[in-house]
Amino acid sequence: MFAALPKAAFSVLAGSSTLKSLASKYGMRSTNSFARRFIAGEQVDEAIEAAREVERQGLMVTLDLLGESVASHEEAHAATFAYIAVMEAIERAGVGRNISLKLTQLGLDIDQATCVDNLRRIVDIAAKSDFFVRIDMENSPYTDRTLDTFETLWGIGYRQAGVVIQSYLKRSTADIKRVNALGARIRLVKGAYRESAAVAFQQKAEVDAAFIEQMKLLLTEGTYPAIATHDPVMIDATTSFAKANGIANDRYEFQMLYGIRRDLQASLAGDGHPFRVYVPFGREWFPYFMRRLGERPANVGFVVGSILKDKSK
Ligand SMILES: Cc1cc2nc3c(=O)[nH]c(=O)nc-3n(C[C@H](O)[C@H](O)[C@H](O)COP(=O)(O)OP(=O)(O)OC[C@H]3O[C@@H](n4cnc5c(N)ncnc54)[C@H](O)[C@@H]3O)c2cc1C
Repeated sequence: MFAALPKAAFSVLAGSSTLKSLASKYGMRSTNSFARRFIAGEQVDEAIEAAREVERQGLMVTLDLLGESVASHEEAHAATFAYIAVMEAIERAGVGRNISLKLTQLGLDIDQATCVDNLRRIVDIAAKSDFFVRIDMENSPYTDRTLDTFETLWGIGYRQAGVVIQSYLKRSTADIKRVNALGARIRLVKGAYRESAAVAFQQKAEVDAAFIEQMKLLLTEGTYPAIATHDPVMIDATTSFAKANGIANDRYEFQMLYGIRRDLQASLAGDGHPFRVYVPFGREWFPYFMRRLGERPANVGFVVGSILKDKSK
């Protein structure tokens, strides 16, 4: 019944404050609550525990302190220092030094200079302490500004950062060539936001075809790309292309999101492919959670079941 819900419906619901406060009440309240399927917890300690568990299975991690679309200098500043505290906690815990962040969390909606200043605070620490910082890609109004900010950083000389390119955007092959020319690292994803037909492919077959074309471009011309998908067809296309072209497993990595297709995560890592799990955490989990429901509306059934179980306790 839920499978028929369009991605657009989840995008609208993600803006509902009533739904957000309801979800916040039930989503994390016990160890079995529904949001924990996709989110490691609200606190950094919980994320580190999840990261340790992932690493025990021989996989790598990237930690994402959830947050986006901050509207004031104070919030952007607070988010920056919260990230720095997370980096310190990662160092103390000795888990993988790799983080993912969103530029609207650091003030991209306020102005680009504020965002660059905040990002530099983070990449300065990354350079000193050997972290890698992945800049997630948000919806298309931010694509140019995200790539421009990244190029500014690269131009200053920061090398421990990379970006994300979304296959569903019609512009993406050109963007890959632009980032490849720098020698920077790209994470390739299909794209998680609701976008118009003017800028993005609307059919799964078109997005998949673009993903395969771009994967090939990245494996042949890119710098240690990350192929981030749960789609077995995309994964098979990647391993077959790499094999046919003599590209060794250690020239690229696979990535998946925490809680999704754990079976595939284990089998790919078992086959000797470098494999990273994206571990999201933090109090601002609602928009991220709604995007995961939008990707697979059948997840709503699972959420409703968990709420009913939780309420009956
Ligand atoms: C590490 C990582 C980082 C990402 N970063 C970004 C980013 O910065 N910007 C961005 O726009 N998007 C990002 N995404 C999300 C991405 O764009 C897709 O929305 C998401 O990965 C689903 O697409 P898919 O490639 O798995 O293929 P799909 O064709 O959507 O799914 C293939 C199969 O994967 C499984 N699956 C997919 N999604 C789910 C789900 N939510 N729940 C349960 N099963 C599921 C199902 O079995 C499905 O049949 C990221 C994804 C990953 C893995």
